[in-house]
Amino acid sequence: AASAPLQVIGAGAPVPLNDGGTVGYANLDYAASAPCLEAVHEAITRALPYYSSVHRGAGYASQVTTDAYEKARETVRSFLGAWERDAVVFTRNTTDAMNLLAHAVPSGTTVIVFETEHHATLLPWKRAVRLPAPASPVEAISAADRALAEAPAGPRLLVVTAASNVTGELWPIAELANVARRHGARIAVDAAQLVPHRPLDMKTLGLDYVAFSGHKLYAPFGAGVLAGRGDWLRAAEPYLKGGGASASVQNGGGTTQWSTSPEQRHEAGTPNVLGVIALAAACEALAGTGWDVLKEDEERLLARLRKGLAAIPGVRELTLWGDRSDRVGIVSFVVDGWSARDVALTLSGDYGIGVRDGKFCAHPFVHHLLGASEAPLEAGGASGAGGCGGGQTSAVRASFGIGTTEEHVDRLLDALARIAGGPRG
Ligand code: PMP
Repeated sequence: AASAPLQVIGAGAPVPLNDGGTVGYANLDYAASAPCLEAVHEAITRALPYYSSVHRGAGYASQVTTDAYEKARETVRSFLGAWERDAVVFTRNTTDAMNLLAHAVPSGTTVIVFETEHHATLLPWKRAVRLPAPASPVEAISAADRALAEAPAGPRLLVVTAASNVTGELWPIAELANVARRHGARIAVDAAQLVPHRPLDMKTLGLDYVAFSGHKLYAPFGAGVLAGRGDWLRAAEPYLKGGGASASVQNGGGTTQWSTSPEQRHEAGTPNVLGVIALAAACEALAGTGWDVLKEDEERLLARLRKGLAAIPGVRELTLWGDRSDRVGIVSFVVDGWSARDVALTLSGDYGIGVRDGKFCAHPFVHHLLGASEAPLEAGGASGAGGCGGGQTSAVRASFGIGTTEEHVDRLLDALARIAGGPRG
């Protein structure tokens, strides 16, 4: 079919239920990692016969693979609407990309970040001014404006997410970019949860840096991107030291010359070539689709889910801004009298629905949404939620994208109605 490249692999695969039966999986955990697109599978299959090292080999397979790797960079550049002069550095994921940026920020830079961020975006900075969760998008803009005005002279960087991984809410990044520009500051955007759902154009929005992960964009794990201005990256020590980053190395311990290309400087070692080719294939497939169609589908399902949740007594959706912000297909909620973990396990075992529970690597934000000022430290750290959640102050998150159906949403709503109406978990 014409839409085959945009089909996800494994949709509706059978999963076991507690009662011994099986059911087609309702994957509502796209915000953690999205399933792979058929287009991604095809791109990997095409690349495999010429599987070889990049940049250094003279053989034909090396040339083909190097071309594919560098073409992927240009595909990502155009997917993000990055400037020709921008660096597009391949990283492992968004966490790695944000850490690379933190590594490259000149010393003395004032970094300003909202407390609502994912830990990947909240934590890498040596020193950061943390702004509390704003009560509205307008307040987010004025808080950033104030913080930038009060920041000492010198480089300043505003770091913000484009779409929350907890509530799906969209942040006013165009306006925040304007504010940053007005103050002569830079803005870095965590687009991990935006790019699977909406187009992003760095030039139009005036963004200095963007980070995202392939595995949330319908490609496999292990490849991500930091795109943006090259100057700080060019001036920073190589993120990793080794082959590729070094332009010349002297005998006898003489000075090492590092590459001045930001990409080479920060991509030492053999890169994740297949991951990068896959990530670029996902970018191409999504960009070639018409975002409007995806958005329309998603908004229909999102409205159905939110309306359904609101109608179930005992279920409370977590939202920062209510209807004051547009959002992507991510919804977090709690069920009265139930731990998030028990809800998630029941949804899985009794209904074949995959959701995530926990604090979604955004502890301060989830505490804020739950009205809990502080998290109790969990014994042992992890509670089956990737070390980022569990315990009493957690929520359940349903998230979706290409391949999600009304049946998945309805199954979740039916299940929650039973859970919320039934004996406590
Ligand atoms: N930022 C946001 C908004 C995210 O949702 C995530 C993943 N949950 C990350 C950053 C980190 O992504 P990764 O785990 O791929 O590094």
